[in-house]
Amino acid sequence: MRIELLPSSVSAGADAPQFLSSYLVNDAVCIDGGSVGLLADVDRQRAVRHVFLTHAHLDHVASLPLFVENVYEPGPECVEILGSAETLGSIRRDLFNDRIWPDFFRLSTPHDAFLRATPLAPLKAVERAGLRITPVPVTHSCETLAMIVDDGRSCVAFAADTGPTDLLWHELAARPTLRGVFLECSFPDMLGDFASRIGHLCPTTFAAQRARLAADVRCFAMHRKARHAATIARELAALGLPGVELARPGVVYDLEPDGQPDLRPRRA
Ligand SMILES: [Zn+2]
Ligand SMILES: [Zn+2]
Repeated sequence: MRIELLPSSVSAGADAPQFLSSYLVNDAVCIDGGSVGLLADVDRQRAVRHVFLTHAHLDHVASLPLFVENVYEPGPECVEILGSAETLGSIRRDLFNDRIWPDFFRLSTPHDAFLRATPLAPLKAVERAGLRITPVPVTHSCETLAMIVDDGRSCVAFAADTGPTDLLWHELAARPTLRGVFLECSFPDMLGDFASRIGHLCPTTFAAQRARLAADVRCFAMHRKARHAATIARELAALGLPGVELARPGVVYDLEPDGQPDLRPRRA
């Protein structure tokens, strides 16, 4: 399974700050629409046919309106947006509302569609592009679904935005092919109480969540708030957690079932 955290700052590069969240999985499925609509290679955008939304916060949907515009082609085939009923309701009310952006839901017909929306139910897996994707509720300030992605050989979890949570770790304990987890760490320890109140992690609570995973599962720290990114990196390094590394934008993570993952930069 090939996974790329898409870059989201003008200065691209694996150490660039991360403002928005979008992951490409096998180039065909996207988890969150934060930056997918900013990809300079529009053909790469067109290859994405299914966008799974974890929740409707701006850093996860910011480029979705641009993306839908960019990949539209006349005819019945269109991109599919999947998320909880609450998330889908939010993007229709708050983004595609004829004020922020055209209401592509209303403008879509069976013969000429911009997008179609598919509601996801907690723990009800769906299959798209050869992947089995299971949404799992996590602990955030609005309804949020983590996504467990399984290609039949490997399993990877995108924990979304979450504070300390439980059901996700319970679900992952039953996945012997789990290779990696992308886990947020939004704030430094100094802001740990604030982070917990609004459903985010800091290095100390991140460590407690990581301890719920087997030691050989790679754990990618992501969603570091840009103004705290260096502090968070220092605090995580000081904890010396096994298998933890910073998620790097623009790097393709090829999580192989033999436990010998291969990191290959896609581009210079
Ligand atoms: Zn959020
Ligand atoms: Zn976020």
